Amino acid sequence: MSNVTEIYGSMVFNEHTMRERLPKATYKQLMKTIKEGEPLDEEVANVVAHAMKEWAIEKGATHYTHWFQPLSGITSEKHDSFIDPTDDGRTIMTFSGKELIQGEPDASSFPSGGLRATFEARGYTAWDPTSYAFIKDEVLCIPTAFCSYTGEALDKKTPLLRSMKAIERQARRVLEHFGDDEGERVKTTLGAEQEYFLISEKDYEKRLDLILTGRTLFGYPPCKGQELEEHYFGAIRPTVNNFMKELDDELWKLGVSAKTKHNEVAPAQHELAPIFAESNRAVDENLLTMEEMRLLASHYGLVCLQHEKPFESINGSGKHNNWSISAGSKNLLDPGENPMENLRFLVFLTGVIEAVDEYQELLRMTAASAGNDHRLGANEAPPAIVSIFLGEELSRVVDALISDGEYSSAERVAMDLGVDVLPNFLKDNTDRNRTSPFAFTGNKFEFRMPGSAQNLSDCNMVLNTAMAKSLKEFADAMEGKQGEEFEAAAIDCIKKTLRDHERIIFNGDGYSEEWPLEAKRRGLANHRTTADALPCMIDPKSVELFDEFGVLSETELKSRYEVKLEKYNKIMNIEIRTMKRLVRRDYLPAINNYAAEVARDIAQIRAAMGDANTLPMEERLRELTDGAAEINRLLEELHRLHYVSLDLEDQQERANMNAHEIIPVMDDLRAAVDAMEIIVAREAWPVPTYNEILFYA
Ligand code: ADP
Ligand code: MG
Repeated sequence: MSNVTEIYGSMVFNEHTMRERLPKATYKQLMKTIKEGEPLDEEVANVVAHAMKEWAIEKGATHYTHWFQPLSGITSEKHDSFIDPTDDGRTIMTFSGKELIQGEPDASSFPSGGLRATFEARGYTAWDPTSYAFIKDEVLCIPTAFCSYTGEALDKKTPLLRSMKAIERQARRVLEHFGDDEGERVKTTLGAEQEYFLISEKDYEKRLDLILTGRTLFGYPPCKGQELEEHYFGAIRPTVNNFMKELDDELWKLGVSAKTKHNEVAPAQHELAPIFAESNRAVDENLLTMEEMRLLASHYGLVCLQHEKPFESINGSGKHNNWSISAGSKNLLDPGENPMENLRFLVFLTGVIEAVDEYQELLRMTAASAGNDHRLGANEAPPAIVSIFLGEELSRVVDALISDGEYSSAERVAMDLGVDVLPNFLKDNTDRNRTSPFAFTGNKFEFRMPGSAQNLSDCNMVLNTAMAKSLKEFADAMEGKQGEEFEAAAIDCIKKTLRDHERIIFNGDGYSEEWPLEAKRRGLANHRTTADALPCMIDPKSVELFDEFGVLSETELKSRYEVKLEKYNKIMNIEIRTMKRLVRRDYLPAINNYAAEVARDIAQIRAAMGDANTLPMEERLRELTDGAAEINRLLEELHRLHYVSLDLEDQQERANMNAHEIIPVMDDLRAAVDAMEIIVAREAWPVPTYNEILFYA
C-alpha cells in the first residue's frame, strides 16, 4: 500500500508547492490572481512558468499542454515539448510565462456552431489559475479556457467561470444584509458522483456496437438482472478491487479527492464519489477521473463504459451533481443555529426554488443527450420532468410560510413564524427519495438528471446563473432596508416567492405513473427527448438570462444550441449505421444459417426415421424464418427513414425525426433481433450476450 499522505497531490502544482517553489513576492502576486481575480502580469508569469517547469521536469515531464474542454465536452490537449535546441547540438528546456498564460491551438476542427468558421479559424487558450496545473503521463497539463480571437467562448469552462462570478456578486449583495464579512469569497461547490460499468475486454472486442456507440444496440435481458439486489454495496470482485485501488492512487497523486467507491445496483456497475470542491475544479477533477478510469481499466483486461445506458433493461449510469454555495467556511444551504442564520438559509433556499422553477427547461436541457435519453424516464432514473424534493421537515417549514400558518416540527413543537422567533428547524438528513431529480440533502441539492458521460459545466452554469437572478431580485427588493424593516421585508419576499413557485416542489414518487399527469396539471415541462429539450436554449427568456449576467451572449448561446443539435444527429447517424451494418452482416446471416441448420437436421432425422416427431423443430424453423422476415422488413424501414432524415437540412427537423420516427423503428428492430437471440443456438450467435458480458468472473 502506498503512503497516501505522501503521494496525495504529488503531481499537482498546488498552493503548497507554489509556496515552496516560488519567491515570496511572486507567490503573493499569484495568490491575488487566484483568490481575488487580479490580472497576472507577464513578469510574474515568467517566474511562475520557470518554477513550474523545473518542478515538472523533476517529476519526469518532457512536454506541456494547455488542457481544455471544447464544446464536445471531453478534454483536449496538444503536447509541446520543453526543448529549445542550442547551437552546439544540445538542448535546454524552456517554458515562458507567455506559453503558460496563452496558447494557440489550431482549433478549426473543434465544434463551434459556426462561431469561428467565417472569419477567424484560430482560437486561443488562457490559463485558469484557479485550477491547478498537474502532471499526467509525463505531460505538464495547464487547465485553460478556450476562446475565439473575438473573445467568444468556445468551451465549457469559460461560461462556468463567468457564472461563478455572477452568483458571487449577487450573493455578496444579499449577504451584506446579514452583516457578513466582505472579505469572504462566495463559492459554488460541486461533488460529482460518477457511475460506470466495467466489463471484460474480451467481450467488448466482440461487440462492434459497444466499440462504435458505447452502448449495446442489441441484447436480450440477462436471465438474472438486478432483482436480487445483491450487487449494490456487495463485495467487490478482486480484479475490480485492484482496479479501484490503482485508480485511487492515481487520482490521489493528481490531488483528486476520491473518497467513496462501491458497487452499484446493476451487475458490473460501480460508483466513485469525490469530496466536493469549487465548481470549476470539481469539473476538471471529474474529467480527469473519467480519463483515468478508461485508461487504468486496460491494465486489468477490463473496459470502462461511461455511456448512460450501455445495457437495455439494466440500470443506466448517472452523474449526480451535488451543488451548494458557501461564503468562507459557511455553507449557505445549511439551516442555521439561530433565527438570523435560518433567515439567511431561507433566502438562499427560496432562491434555489425560484431558480429551478423559472428555468426548469434550461436545467433539463443540460442533461439532454442521445445517451441520456435512454436513461431519463426509465425506471431507475428521474423522469425528464424537473421537480424539487425538500424532505419532510423542510416541507413543513415551507408549507407554513406559504400558508402563513404555524410551523410544527416533527416533534410537534408549534412555533410562530414571526421574524424574531424563526424556528431552529432541524436539518433533514434522512433523504432517501431517489426518485427526485433535484433533492435537498441536508445542506446541498443533488441534481440527479445528468448522465455519466456528461460534462457538468453546463448544469452548474445554468444553476449558478439562474440562482444569480433570484439573488439579484431579492437584493434589489431589499435595497436600503435595514434591521427589522429588512427582516420583515425579507420574510414577505420569501413567502411571496414560495407561493409563486410552489408547483415545483414534489415529495412523492417520481417514478409513479400519476406524476407526469400531475406535473402536466401543474404546468411543469416534460421534454422527453433531446430534440424536445434543446430549443429552450434559444428562447428569448434564456437569451435574456445569460445576457443579463454576462455568462453567454446571444451568439454564443445559439452556437451552443447548434453544436448540441449536431452532436445529437451525428450520434444518431452512427447508431443507425451501426445497427444496419450489424443486422445485415452479423445477425441476419447468423439467423439464416441457423435456420438452414435446423432444416438440415429435420431432413436428416426424417431420413433416418420416417415417423420421427419433427413438429417442434418445424415450429422452431417457422419462428426463425418469420423472425428473419420481420427483421428484414424493419431493416428496410429503418434504411428508408435514415435516408429521408439525411436529406433534412434543418438540424432541428432532423433531430425531431430521429427522436420521434427513427428511434421507435430502431426499438422494434432491436426487439425482433433480441427475440431471435434466445432461440438461436449459443454457438451460432455471433456476439457475447448480456448473460456473459454482465456476469464475468
Ligand atoms: P449520498 O449521496 O450517498 O448521501 P453524501 O451526501 O455523503 O452521499 O455525498 C454525496 C456527494 O456530495 C459527495 O461527493 C460529497 O462530497 C458531496 N457534497 C457534500 N457536501 C457538499 C457541498 N456542500 N457542496 C457540494 N457537494 C457536496
Ligand atoms: Mg448521492
